[in-house]
Amino acid sequence: MNLETPIKEAGNAFKNYASRLEKLGIKKIEDFLYHVPFRYEDYSLVSKIADIQPGEIVTIKGEVTEIKNEYTRKWKNLQKAKVADETGKIDIIWFNQPFIPKIIKKGDMVSLAGRVDWFKNKAILQSPQYEVLFKESEPIHTGRLVPIYNETRGISSKWLRRQISKIVKEQIQFMNEYIPDSIIEKTGLIRFKPAIEQIHFPKSLEQAEKAKLRLSFDELFFLQLAALFRKAQWKNNFVGNPFSISKYKKSIEEFLEKLPFDLTNAQKKAVKEVFKDLSSKKPMNRLLEGDVGSGKTVVASIAMFLAYLNGFQSAIMAPTEILALQHFKTINSLLSSFKVKIGIATGSKKENTKNCDILVGTHALLSKKVNFKNLGLVIIDEQQRFGVEQRAVIRKKGKSPHLLTMTATPIPRTIALTLYGDLDLSFLDEMPRGRKTVKTWLVPKEKREDAYEWITKQIIESCGQVFIICPFIEESETMTTVKAAVKEFERLKKEVFPNLKLELLHGKLKTKEKDTILNKFKNGQANILVATPVVEVGIDIPNATIMIIEAADRFGLSQLHQLRGRVGRSDKQSYCLLFTESQNQRTIQRLKGMEKIYIGAELAELDLKLRGPGEIYGTAQHGIPELKIASFSDFSLIEKTRKEAEEIFPKLKDYPKLYEKIKSKNLTEISPD
Ligand code: ADP
Ligand code: MG
Repeated sequence: MNLETPIKEAGNAFKNYASRLEKLGIKKIEDFLYHVPFRYEDYSLVSKIADIQPGEIVTIKGEVTEIKNEYTRKWKNLQKAKVADETGKIDIIWFNQPFIPKIIKKGDMVSLAGRVDWFKNKAILQSPQYEVLFKESEPIHTGRLVPIYNETRGISSKWLRRQISKIVKEQIQFMNEYIPDSIIEKTGLIRFKPAIEQIHFPKSLEQAEKAKLRLSFDELFFLQLAALFRKAQWKNNFVGNPFSISKYKKSIEEFLEKLPFDLTNAQKKAVKEVFKDLSSKKPMNRLLEGDVGSGKTVVASIAMFLAYLNGFQSAIMAPTEILALQHFKTINSLLSSFKVKIGIATGSKKENTKNCDILVGTHALLSKKVNFKNLGLVIIDEQQRFGVEQRAVIRKKGKSPHLLTMTATPIPRTIALTLYGDLDLSFLDEMPRGRKTVKTWLVPKEKREDAYEWITKQIIESCGQVFIICPFIEESETMTTVKAAVKEFERLKKEVFPNLKLELLHGKLKTKEKDTILNKFKNGQANILVATPVVEVGIDIPNATIMIIEAADRFGLSQLHQLRGRVGRSDKQSYCLLFTESQNQRTIQRLKGMEKIYIGAELAELDLKLRGPGEIYGTAQHGIPELKIASFSDFSLIEKTRKEAEEIFPKLKDYPKLYEKIKSKNLTEISPD
């Protein structure tokens, strides 16, 4: 067994836990070391039994003189023990843990940690942490700062602690420093080995702090280096197809005149930046970031039109079928009068794929069967939904095509620069005129009925249409999510809105069914669309003015903001109601942010600040990759790592250990060689 051994091959102690460990992101032995605690329980006060005081959190060590299971009259199950050291004796009690007397036997030396209570004039330890001490073994779960980890069902902190302690002991000798001495000296970071030991088993909080800083530095530093690698690759390896703009000025102007609206200044600026890239010999590699509803599609359409005028094909890929169909419609309405031939390729719908100028699609575009004659421009919508490899596959269908990726993920600029340091960035930081902000309320449990009444009234009196988003249950839409949605749909239909027309939309429906349902809703034949969170991306239904989100606490703020962006797409006043059963003050504070903040990037920052450990949604929901140790809210460390990465990058080959480490991390799109 070594650090690279996959859990599945790591012997029986681990094998049976493989799928559960994977939920925690632990796939190989090394990952244990990077599964760092989110806090420490302080059991470092080790006391003699005679000295302990009620209320104290202490660790005591002693010999077990008695231990037994006991059943009370009400069939409650207790475990009672007595433990003695040279100064005295103390009673211990646990509840409902009948296995304890099997682990701890009379005569064992034990270490116990917990709060001292006072019971019938005697000190007593209730439900303490426990471990049996063997000769010379140092306690892991007591008598020190004890790490508390993110857990999952069947994997407790105690279990993790035991494994991690063993792995650290066995493997630390094989772990080498890879950060150059010059950086260590300049930054005052601690060395790698002590960092790994101290993040898990620190002697003081200060040690833990230093370890965390060192490992956070590494994590961000590698992201920065990876971006620099990709940038260098992009520069070196491609010769692109420069598009002419001046030749087609007239057609472009005509296109802009035919638009039903004027471009916002932000859109104009983005188009200018995109055009500059498209006319260059180096292929474009640009990320267009803009809040939901900021009008990215039209910017993409102009770029595709220019490609068409220059005799090149374009492909635009979206993460869901619904969105692809919508793009197909939008692009048709914008471009078909210019004789542009538009095709579509999704899992279940293929039209015009052979001889088109623009091919719209989903992942289906990645299929070997989809080919282009001269693909000059690739556009990827909601790029965070696609993996690095998928993006590479579609690009390879052309000869160094220009690439425009788009995202509604409101990533703050500092973070965008870190993650996408290799890309050029355009921001649509302005909404089309005339949009009203969506009035947002957090609705507590007890106001639910009132809210339903208000919704009914809105529908009847102002012909409003309503989205109801079911709870976010799992990352990908599985049957569990669908079943929950079906149940909620039935309840709403029968018990809450018996006189209204409701439809249900979820990811497991066939495309045709989805289409029919969306059309019904678009045409006003349904008042309420109940949906799983799939509607989050993209869809555009201007007449819908109310967005209801169930179990809002399960979503990230950026995700809520995206959902909210589904309404408020006309000049009518729109509303967003967030339902939550949560009583947690921090959660409420976080969600209250939605009532006051309407700018995606600000919400993303607030989310990063207020997000608690182990919350159900990950930063993956933001489109920001999950960091294991560092935090994206630590802007100053982000800056520092960027500086160091930029400095070291040109002479990286002089630092073989660092170079090897980067290669092994596989962080880059294209391997460094
Ligand atoms: P997103 O950036 O979320 O992809 P879309 O491209 O779907 O946004 O645009 C949202 C809506 O705004 C569409 O109905 C689109 O026609 C409209 N729109 C785009 N640009 C403008 C503009 N400059 N003025 C008015 N409406 C616009
Ligand atoms: Mg969009």
